[in-house]
Amino acid sequence: MSADDLVDLIKHEDQKVSRATVYRALQWMVKAGIAGKVDFGEGRFRFEPSYRHPRHFHLICKSCNRSDEFMSSDIEAFIEDVTVSRGFVSRQSVVQIYGICEECQTGKQKAFGGITTELLFARDALRIAIATERSGLEFYTRAAKITRDTRGRKVFKKLAGEEKEHLSKLETRYKELLLQDPKLESRPTFLFFKGAANGLFAAGADELTEGMDDKQALMIGIRCERGSHRFFKRYGERFEDSEGKQIFLEFADEEREHLGLLIREYRSLAQRQSKAVARRRTAQPVRRASA
Ligand SMILES: [Zn+2]
Ligand SMILES: [Zn+2]
Repeated sequence: MSADDLVDLIKHEDQKVSRATVYRALQWMVKAGIAGKVDFGEGRFRFEPSYRHPRHFHLICKSCNRSDEFMSSDIEAFIEDVTVSRGFVSRQSVVQIYGICEECQTGKQKAFGGITTELLFARDALRIAIATERSGLEFYTRAAKITRDTRGRKVFKKLAGEEKEHLSKLETRYKELLLQDPKLESRPTFLFFKGAANGLFAAGADELTEGMDDKQALMIGIRCERGSHRFFKRYGERFEDSEGKQIFLEFADEEREHLGLLIREYRSLAQRQSKAVARRRTAQPVRRASA
């Protein structure tokens, strides 16, 4: 809302509060990091909460003047590409989409008021983590099926079991979050993470083919876990303190553990294979001699 909107609201409560007091309080809140100042090109600033509020972009309706928030990993990655290639240090980026909101187009009130972006953020962060776990579970189940090496199969089975356990934990957390707001499931998407939407392991699972070398399968797993760990860590670190941030960082840690396990397994398999090769090499002259 604008400072004047806030003055009008406060006047309902208390006639004695002056305009100057409201303005001063807002300035103080901005300085303290509780409120953020946004410019929608209307010739006046608007203010929004910023404590535990994730960074975001805006959709602004020209008919009802309401603004809505969203975040997109693709837009962020694009901005980073451009700034890095131009050697530019970016401090702030603003994306504003002007138009007509769904309610103004259809005349149907959605009655979605009173929801905090933080709750939407936590919901979407959990959805992304759940999609990643699901694709990870599929990946490891499939890898366990096609692996010939007994030890490799055990590792993949262990990881599939872990993914299953994490998945059920995340799903419980998701259900608990829904208790905070009965309409939470149907509220609009806040986080748009196109690349991660289908789960970061989906492409890796497609690469797993029957009769594949165990080392290759481990390598694909390593690549997926590394990508997933980096993704969740990178975004988790950039978000403001919130449940969504916590979900991303916890998940990044779990993925790092999986990554470590796979790397150890890859090394051990490589070692066993080179030992076997050495054994065959030393065994060969003996066999020849005896033959
Ligand atoms: Zn509107
Ligand atoms: Zn905003």
